[in-house]
Amino acid sequence: MKRILVTGGAGFVGSHLCERLLNEGNEVISLDNYFTGQKKNIEHLMDNHYFEIIRHDVTMPFFIEVDEIYNLACPASPVHYQHNPIKTVKTSVMGAVNMLGLAKRINAKILQASTSEVYGDPQVHPQTEDYWGYVNPIGVRSCYDEGKRVAETLFVNYNMQNNVRIKIIRIFNTYGPRMHPNDGRVVSNFIVQALKGKDLTVYGNGDQTRSFQYVDDLINGMTKMMDTGDDFTGPVNIGNPGEFTILELANKVIDIIGSKSKIIFNDLPFDDPMQRQPNISLAKSSLNWEPKIKLEDGLKHTIDFFDKLLKEE
Ligand code: NAD
Ligand code: UDP
Repeated sequence: MKRILVTGGAGFVGSHLCERLLNEGNEVISLDNYFTGQKKNIEHLMDNHYFEIIRHDVTMPFFIEVDEIYNLACPASPVHYQHNPIKTVKTSVMGAVNMLGLAKRINAKILQASTSEVYGDPQVHPQTEDYWGYVNPIGVRSCYDEGKRVAETLFVNYNMQNNVRIKIIRIFNTYGPRMHPNDGRVVSNFIVQALKGKDLTVYGNGDQTRSFQYVDDLINGMTKMMDTGDDFTGPVNIGNPGEFTILELANKVIDIIGSKSKIIFNDLPFDDPMQRQPNISLAKSSLNWEPKIKLEDGLKHTIDFFDKLLKEE
């Protein structure tokens, strides 16, 4: 049995990770400040004696003895991370410093939940890990993109300078149950709008693409990465290469739900990346991992979740 710290454990991805790690027989500690996470996401785990929750902000130092740390604490939706951009930078950068310092002190292995956003509005398509990205350092998304890029820098330097055992994964757009209904990301927005019979808000003309990964696939990739040998640090892309335009996604959601909702077109947010698709050759060869869940199937599970949630309201 390992003792494992999950920062951002009450968030969308973090809650699924805590659940998986507990199911595999580990002791799990969720650390969260509940900025975008909710206790509701982990309440079904609370009866498990091997699960503990701690309210804490990763921008402040924290001490605990654990074998592994998954560093997920950071708002991920553009609406949320742009709400308080300075705090977003602090969370990524000071959070990384604090968690890496802890890992160094207690000799724990540590995994960073990085993002496809480090590639910015990519000029190389699909994105491979050796692409350096095309990021606007002063744009509205920079608090998140640059914060995550500095976090990667800190991780590799703690590894080179202090031999901290690090792992970096670059996560591409992930969706599934327990996304926050108001978090503003496209999959949750479209599903909630379609279930309520409201117009689906496509930003721009909907030609921009994203590659959507179901959360269970991400958790498989993330835990496989943590289990690799110390000399494999990444970064490694974890995403589903199935690429769709946003308009295709809107139509898919409407079709699956059988909704009467219409599609409306709003302004495209500033610096919105035009395309995004992971090249996952490295994940396939190094982790023996690839995503298994097709978009249609993942959407059905997610729609079921939101359908129940909206009926409870
Ligand atoms: P989320 O917003 O649901 O979860 C983030 C969690 O971190 C929340 O529980 C929040 O309360 C917590 N948090 C935020 N700031 C904190 C702080 N200062 N101290 C302590 N806790 C804090 O987002 P998510 O989709 O679950 O994303 C989890 C991680 O994965 C993030 O680091 C995100 O950048 C990364 N990621 C997610 C995606 C995706 O599509 N979901 C894509 C790329 C990367
Ligand atoms: N988007 C949209 N309508 C929405 C929410 C998002 O058209 O209601 C678009 C957004 O402009 C972007 C894509 O969907 O092009 C994915 O947005 P999301 O916020 O989910 O993630 P990110 O932009 O960080 O990939």
